[in-house]
Amino acid sequence: MTEQTNTEKPKKTASKPRPRRRSRGGRGRQAPGQGWTLDQFQVPEVEGKVRFHDLDLSLDTLHAIADLGFEYCSPIQARSLPFTLRGHDVVGKAQTGTGKTAAFLITIVEDLLKHPVEDERYAGEARALVIAPTRELVMQIAEDAKALCKYHDLKVHTLVGGMDYDKQKRHLMDSFCDILVATPGRLLDFTGSRDVYLDQVEVLVLDEADRMLDMGFIPQVRRIVRQTPFKDHRQTLLFSATFTPEVLQLAEQWTIKPVLVEIEPESVATDSVNQKVYLTTQDEKFSLLYNIVSSEEVESVIVFANRRDQCRKLEEKLRRKGFSVGLLSGEVAQNKRVKTLNDFKSGQIKVLVATDVAGRGIHIDGISHVVNYTLPEEPEDYVHRIGRTGRAGKTGTSISFACEDDGFLLEPIEALIGRKLPCEQPSEALLQGD
Ligand code: AMP
Repeated sequence: MTEQTNTEKPKKTASKPRPRRRSRGGRGRQAPGQGWTLDQFQVPEVEGKVRFHDLDLSLDTLHAIADLGFEYCSPIQARSLPFTLRGHDVVGKAQTGTGKTAAFLITIVEDLLKHPVEDERYAGEARALVIAPTRELVMQIAEDAKALCKYHDLKVHTLVGGMDYDKQKRHLMDSFCDILVATPGRLLDFTGSRDVYLDQVEVLVLDEADRMLDMGFIPQVRRIVRQTPFKDHRQTLLFSATFTPEVLQLAEQWTIKPVLVEIEPESVATDSVNQKVYLTTQDEKFSLLYNIVSSEEVESVIVFANRRDQCRKLEEKLRRKGFSVGLLSGEVAQNKRVKTLNDFKSGQIKVLVATDVAGRGIHIDGISHVVNYTLPEEPEDYVHRIGRTGRAGKTGTSISFACEDDGFLLEPIEALIGRKLPCEQPSEALLQGD
């Protein structure tokens, strides 16, 4: 099947509303430049590594990158940016933890800067659109986008379900919409009510395409893509942790002569994560968790379990034991999830209990430990989970519990990461009553 031509374009731009207030920089934006020069961002040339300096980026983007503490491009950035910055489409096989978000955001920011809009602009008219499967991921991407736009006058908007529709609409009316980050369902609500227009989209990013397929979002994504300009009039970047035939088929439909970039899972997280497995029993698991979480070396920890009810019970039990703990799962209201994430980031919460969907894509640096209270059924989720630690050049520890019910899931995980995981029995001290 090929992509259909755009039949749903808003009829007349004149029917689009004007933003209530002209964008004039906005809160939080720093004055561009401020005397900052590349002398303040000295990164030595190293063979085999690409510096951001080598990519002909604008000074304000480099300034924001320097503030983020990045020095060299990650492999996906080094391999995709030289193409995407010249307008090529890219299909990237990369998981979270590889730096793919910055790869597509830098592309967007530079594109929007290099092609200023001369025509009249309207409220809700997105110039770049990023679609991601979960609310957490959308919020995270938007936060990264804001950090990269710190010295630019570019406006980032988010549309996610479970949050106040009218508030999101008011934000859209208040300024231009340069970068729109959204989950598919809520975005369709907004385009359906003509509060958002996609006919001016210059860059389209589809993040975690495999996850969107798994979650049944593709019909919605298809409807969204059809509202954007045809693929020869937009740049399309598609990322997926796996290249299944379905993902590749979508990539073929939605991109033109894409550059394929594959980053293997082993290079994602496993090298910077000290991984161990405790062979345990279902009955011992909570004591083991309690003792691990209590130990001094655990500064902050995400505990993953497969199901929402398991997460809820774990959170309750840990709370009763006096830990500062938060819950991140689909059954928690969105505003509560955002607050929990912020509290975890600021250190007010030490233990975060999460399901895979909710925990996916969160980037928080400095998480010392990840615990797999239950082993994931999908081996890829193991890589995602442990990738929450050991980020941005730091090392982390992942501890997985394997019991009589889920021990058989270890083998496919080992096959995926290409190595045996060291298994040990927990010491008596670690099993003592909680
Ligand atoms: P992502 O794969 O987009 O989830 O990003 C993983 C993490 O790596 C995030 O915390 C980023 O801030 C960080 N990151 C992205 N690019 C770089 C880079 N070039 N150098 C160091 N850290 C990076």
